[in-house]
Amino acid sequence: MSKILIRGGQVVTMNEKQEILEHADILIDGRVIASVTPMSEGSGGSKDMSGEGCESSTRLHDVDMIINARDKVVMPGFIQSHVHLCQTLFRGQADDLELMDWLKLRIWPLEGAHDEDSIYWSAMLGITELIKGGTTSIIDMETVHHTDRAFSAIDDSGIRATSGKVMMDYGDDVPPTLMESTKDSLNESEALMNKWHMHDGGRIRYAFAPRFVVSCTDQLLVRVRDMAKASGVLVHTHASENKGEIEVVMADRGMRNIKCLKELGLLGPGVVLAHCIWLDDEEMELLRDSGTKVVHCPSSNLKLASGVAKIPEMLDIGIHVSLGADGAPCNNNLDVFQEMRLAALIHKPRLGPTAMPAGTVLEMATKGGAKAMGIEDEVGSIEPGKRADIIILDLNQAHAAPTQNVDLISRIVYEASSADVETTIVDGRVLMHQRKLTAISEQEVVREANKALERALRRSGCAPSGER
Ligand SMILES: [Zn+2]
Repeated sequence: MSKILIRGGQVVTMNEKQEILEHADILIDGRVIASVTPMSEGSGGSKDMSGEGCESSTRLHDVDMIINARDKVVMPGFIQSHVHLCQTLFRGQADDLELMDWLKLRIWPLEGAHDEDSIYWSAMLGITELIKGGTTSIIDMETVHHTDRAFSAIDDSGIRATSGKVMMDYGDDVPPTLMESTKDSLNESEALMNKWHMHDGGRIRYAFAPRFVVSCTDQLLVRVRDMAKASGVLVHTHASENKGEIEVVMADRGMRNIKCLKELGLLGPGVVLAHCIWLDDEEMELLRDSGTKVVHCPSSNLKLASGVAKIPEMLDIGIHVSLGADGAPCNNNLDVFQEMRLAALIHKPRLGPTAMPAGTVLEMATKGGAKAMGIEDEVGSIEPGKRADIIILDLNQAHAAPTQNVDLISRIVYEASSADVETTIVDGRVLMHQRKLTAISEQEVVREANKALERALRRSGCAPSGER
């Protein structure tokens, strides 16, 4: 287990007091943050063996790696609580469609055309983008088949993830390549949970992932509820994203979507719902009273013309909200900086400029995500004893200047971009340093993803995007 010292950075702790330390040293010991040592008032730093100022009492010869973070911003890694790694391969293949057409005409046939290899490279492509953009943890929803290979990519890459195979045993226009029996869906989910939940010291976890009420039988959803309760794993699903979806649930089940989840026993602190755009007041109260978690995906909601979720109102009444990019074909990026910026901006025309301040948004993208994952004791802030999921930003650039007399949180949310992330560390392992990936060959990932897409397009019968 190696020791890493991050020296002299400006540290956005995201701790209880929201402290920002002007200059501090962070010592990582193995997977964990061992200490956070602020530079004392007026200290110029004593000379150490490396000839640079040393603000820490850490004995430098005990350390395996020293990262000089002077004039850089050090903060907890971002957490995106709704992505689909299996869809990264289909970036740009389903533009300008609304949700149900997007699913039925493009995404379902394409997901159904995946093979084991294409799932692996799709996941790797997504993870590469995420790590380069400072996202250290995700809640991921895979497709019906080959989810084991997505877990292999998560395992190989070093990212922290809670993931699960999507479950689809019901619904119109589901291609035969994705339709599964209730029994197969449950059995495969359970086998994947047994294999991957709490893998690598808890870095990798399982979540049951019914796609949405529209594509699941009551029998499946009730069994998911019971299995999740027995095993303590999360349930992650989409809910109330699109008006058409609500109408289908109403016609089929005779009630609104969130009410239906409530009747099935599928609301609660261990349930993470993506979107939640079309809710009535009663449904908002059901989410609050049950402690159900909501994920805001502003880019996806705009691009699919789904609508704008009432996030400020949800926060006001005490609903827990975190952030996610959703899948690459409905975004088309997995860039947390774009999601933060949009989350801060899209509510302002309706509610005024003070709706969704930068601090609220940054919290959603760090601690909020940790809470959605149920691991807020382990990640989401820089504090001794927490897992070392840390990123370093270089904001000494024209687009983020001037640097004086400007609120740092505002700079991160409104000015910074994913290209400003210099270093990404997950579980004490450096996955990118000085913009160089350490565990992944980006060239290989892009090459293999291109090859895999060609195969999937051929199998799916979908014309390439440009030929539609
Ligand atoms: Zn989604």
